Amino acid sequence: MPSLPSLFEMLSALIAIPTISSMKPELDQSNQLVITQLANWCETIGFRCQIQAIPDHPTKFNLIAQLGEGDQGLVFAGHSDTVPYDLTRWQTDPFRLVEKNQRLYGLGMSDMKSFFALALAAIVQFNAKQLRHPVLLVATADEESSMSGAKYLLESAQLRARYALIGEPTNLQPIRMHKGIFMEAIHLTGLSGHSSDPTLGRSALEGMYQVVGEILNWRNELQSKYYHPAFHVPIPTVNLGHIFGGDSPNRICGDCELHIDVRLLPGMELTEIREELQHRVQQRMINSGLEVKFITLFDGIAPMETPTTSAIVLETERLTGYPAQAVAFGTEAPFLQQLGIETVILGAGDIAQAHQPNEFLAIDRLNLMINILTQLIQKFCL
Ligand SMILES: [Zn+2]
Repeated sequence: MPSLPSLFEMLSALIAIPTISSMKPELDQSNQLVITQLANWCETIGFRCQIQAIPDHPTKFNLIAQLGEGDQGLVFAGHSDTVPYDLTRWQTDPFRLVEKNQRLYGLGMSDMKSFFALALAAIVQFNAKQLRHPVLLVATADEESSMSGAKYLLESAQLRARYALIGEPTNLQPIRMHKGIFMEAIHLTGLSGHSSDPTLGRSALEGMYQVVGEILNWRNELQSKYYHPAFHVPIPTVNLGHIFGGDSPNRICGDCELHIDVRLLPGMELTEIREELQHRVQQRMINSGLEVKFITLFDGIAPMETPTTSAIVLETERLTGYPAQAVAFGTEAPFLQQLGIETVILGAGDIAQAHQPNEFLAIDRLNLMINILTQLIQKFCL
């Protein structure tokens, strides 16, 4: 039997390599070393590995590793990056695996580098000859920032499989749907001038008052049109989060900008909803004499829903004893779904741990997760 390092050694190695991703360039790091480490382990046990260099992101890579042949396989997928950390609030070195109180501490233990080691510990029990359908390990870049990895995975269309499990932290409970999200800025440019004579300018702030009214009307319409009882907040939401403009009470406001966050239910199409927003605002501003500009703050993640009748949903429900749920956070699942892969999200970590100092994974979760992954391979690949 080919040998991998022990689970503890793999976890230590993954945690020891910093792979922070951030929209702030001074914090952003390469994920190359984790990707090559995973590829090395995969090759040791007989996988074919493809490392994808992500266009326009020179230090970022995806891994697609496949054991066995065919395009009807099972994917274990996750992101190789972590969020930045606040060292003053960590009690241990975030890049050293520390065992304490039946827990393993380290940055990425819950969200979600540990998943790759657990997946390998499950896969190593099988060899390619036994597999009727392949097992794949997919590791992406930049999930915590731009999603460049998942976007390129979709664009490159190199990944072919039937089912996928994403090991994001879910407390060992299957998730089959989440909302989509995008963030947009609306910038109005008018003309500043002395406040004593309104004819000297065009107020961007007064224009924004109209825009806000239009957006709130649009929100009401969306909320009466779309409803999904599986979600804790069962309607789409639009949050007016940030506004700024003008410079002085005695000047006409020349520029004003509003930032909003829109959360979509499954069944709502991201591009369509964004265009609808832009169209509504443009129509409202048509005779205002103000210039309207839209700035994409966050491209967006589509909403996702895998049907209750999907075999991967039924099987993960059976193995965990929990009905598949909806969550409030976005994942890479919609990108896999668009590749025609039926996807659930199920991981050993606790979402309460993710993005927090002193992130850990409870040791008793390790074998529970390896068992689930092992049984999924038996069900879908043998
Ligand atoms: Zn994550």
